[in-house]
Amino acid sequence: MSKRVLVFFPSKEYTESLIPEIVLKSGTIFNTIKTEVTPTQVKIMGEIKANEEKAQEFIRILKRRGAVVKELGLIMRFDPDKCVACGMCVSLCPTNAITFNKDFSVRYDFDECVLCMNCFKNCPVKAVSYLGD
Ligand code: SF4
Ligand code: SF4
Repeated sequence: MSKRVLVFFPSKEYTESLIPEIVLKSGTIFNTIKTEVTPTQVKIMGEIKANEEKAQEFIRILKRRGAVVKELGLIMRFDPDKCVACGMCVSLCPTNAITFNKDFSVRYDFDECVLCMNCFKNCPVKAVSYLGD
């Protein structure tokens, strides 16, 4: 299974060997999807490939090393009660994280999300919220 996360390191705490070191310690695989570096912060979006226990261990070690970790499934929220199933987000999502169910209701899988924000910016009824940063 996989879990997408945003990892924020203060620049002074981050070295390039840090993630490989934590991967080794926790017995996980971590695929980096994108990295943004500012003078004060390193922000990494990635996907942990491991069972839940190992993924949580990976996150625990990251936090001990000074990172703030946010799971995408917890910072992106979809409210099915607001959704009018217009399909806008389905057509704009670059990763097929949003699909129609057989009954034409809409399903989000934030473990496939790359935070492009197309759904958030274009939903006409604000059924998608972002709780990150
Ligand atoms: S933020 Fe982008 S990638 Fe994520 S679910 Fe919305 S449209 Fe898809
Ligand atoms: S854009 Fe908004 S209303 Fe339309 S299908 Fe997506 S979540 Fe539902």
